[in-house]
Amino acid sequence: MDLMGKVALITGSTSGIGYGAAKALAAQGASIVLNGFADDDAIKAMRQEIGDMNGGNCIYVGADLSKAEEVKALVDDVVSQLGRIDILVNNAGIQHVANVEDFPDEKWEFMLSLMLSAPFYAIKAAVPHMRQNGWGRVINIASAHGRVASPQKAAYVACKHGLVGLNKVVALETAEDDITVNAICPGWVLTPLVAKQVDAIAENDGIPWDEAKMKLLSEKQPSKEFVTPEQIGAMVCYLCSDAAAQVTGTELSIDGGWVAR
Ligand code: NAD
Repeated sequence: MDLMGKVALITGSTSGIGYGAAKALAAQGASIVLNGFADDDAIKAMRQEIGDMNGGNCIYVGADLSKAEEVKALVDDVVSQLGRIDILVNNAGIQHVANVEDFPDEKWEFMLSLMLSAPFYAIKAAVPHMRQNGWGRVINIASAHGRVASPQKAAYVACKHGLVGLNKVVALETAEDDITVNAICPGWVLTPLVAKQVDAIAENDGIPWDEAKMKLLSEKQPSKEFVTPEQIGAMVCYLCSDAAAQVTGTELSIDGGWVAR
């Protein structure tokens, strides 16, 4: 329970990787702030599950992170409710797949707001509190697409490369303050975000879902196994541990060999 007394905000934590990170941090004793979209019953169940792990220290703060004002208000809300923010995991994200000439302008704008501007505003609001506390951990959930590209993912790849750049700048600015800033670059994780891409392959190629899943994996991920939210949660906890105090400004891949090709 190394993170007892720390407050962790994980954006987009009502699903997939974010929820995995929230559970892993809760298991280390951190107080958890969930954020993201879900119905009331689902949120209640998640708060219960996490509360069972960390002594009931789990709140939910809703915010549409594609709106700058709501991102700023989210961080303020966390500090006013829990008195501090020690760990920020910038995770909320979506995918949209289209050739660049067909990529809808509004999707481009939306994805940049959610996946690049929101981390910027959240970091900007959280870092002063971390400096004040003399400790902080910022973890940006980037992607293998923060390091390499794939066709039809203009906004996603631009956001994730941008996030990796932002990560480096903030790491330099906070390097002397016991604040570390790192990006995690996962390969395929079987969450709703990726399930939609498997659906699209199954439909376009007229093949069964399991075959489509294997096709998606085989194209990019040499291990041919999905990364799990639990494995990413463990990496988040590592980055919050004393062992990682000198790890900052870097990108950690967890991708079954994707970017080694
Ligand atoms: P997911 O669809 O399971 O979860 C996305 C979360 O973001 C949900 O909680 C959702 O409610 C929230 N969200 C979406 N729009 C939001 C908004 N406007 N405001 C607030 N919250 C919002 O997706 P996931 O696969 O767990 O993805 C999480 C992050 O991991 C994303 O940034 C994604 O790019 C990244 N990632 C995913 C994979 C993968 O293979 N799944 C790989 C690499 C990186």
